[in-house]
Amino acid sequence: MVSLPSLLKLLPCRIRGRVKRTILDSDLFAYLNTRWIAHLIDNLERGNYKPRVAYLEATNKCNANCLMCPREKMTRPTGVMDMGLFKNVVNQLVDLNIEEIRLHNFGEPLLDENIAKKINYIKSRDQNIKLNFYTNAYSLSEELAREFVNSKLDRIFISIDEIDPDAYFKIRKLDLETVEKNVMRLMDIRNEMKVDKPEIYVCLTRVDQPDSSVNAFIDKWQTRADMVTVGGAHDWASQKDGVSINGINRLKKWPCVYLWNDLYVLWDGRATICCEDFDGLNIVGDLNNETVLDVWNSGKFKAIRKLMKENKRNGIKVCSGCSLRPLWSCYDE
Ligand code: SF4
Repeated sequence: MVSLPSLLKLLPCRIRGRVKRTILDSDLFAYLNTRWIAHLIDNLERGNYKPRVAYLEATNKCNANCLMCPREKMTRPTGVMDMGLFKNVVNQLVDLNIEEIRLHNFGEPLLDENIAKKINYIKSRDQNIKLNFYTNAYSLSEELAREFVNSKLDRIFISIDEIDPDAYFKIRKLDLETVEKNVMRLMDIRNEMKVDKPEIYVCLTRVDQPDSSVNAFIDKWQTRADMVTVGGAHDWASQKDGVSINGINRLKKWPCVYLWNDLYVLWDGRATICCEDFDGLNIVGDLNNETVLDVWNSGKFKAIRKLMKENKRNGIKVCSGCSLRPLWSCYDE
């Protein structure tokens, strides 16, 4: 079966978001989707399911100060994932045939001076793992760009948001000219080397940019990037003040796929349930002294899944305030 996100990708970027919201808000979709998900969860829990996607937080340090980020509320220390811990977790994920590893969570991955080594390590263990990360590209040097192209990194998501330098600075407190130069150089290097990886996705997170700015952004990047994405800002499960999201409470919700699909490992080795849990309020295990499967099957993780499955998300820290509605499309093929 073809997934909803795959179908939506066929639509022009300008109308994709509106069409998606209309479908997700319909009663029929919510009803059918909820029934289908209940069936999927029952099947999953009857077998030995394991994470399909792992987020390994290379670092939670950041060089930006974005309007839509709750960084000021993060109380856990900043740091970089130790190479020994990283290799240990990757080795286990390879043994589990993990499908995808993402090297971002809450921070800017390029601030990890071992980021290229980490990418190379994963690809040396298994070429088939889909490997990607989000970056603001401010620190994307020529050397790093060459390493990324050589490493066969699969995809890089670059958050840019604007084409106007002043508006961009207002959103991210970074210099747009530097970022654009770095992105163009990465594209040039990839083209010079006549390879098609990494795929370069250029992303706009909509805070308060008017339609004209969004359209100008799409026009500027759609002939250069492999994909342009436009997404709405979110309020980090009600943890970020000042980001307005209309009508959260009336949104139709269903059990969240992340709890059955994704493993989030913070830079210090502790594991949590989701990127929204940026401060680690739902720690479900510690990869420093537990295996990936220990953590995945821990009592804490199972108890959280049970609450979610029983539609009691108000009993789960962070999820209780969440406005996201991730789809289960990874299971429909
Ligand atoms: S409900 Fe929200 S906070 Fe909870 S796991 Fe899903 S996306 Fe994360």
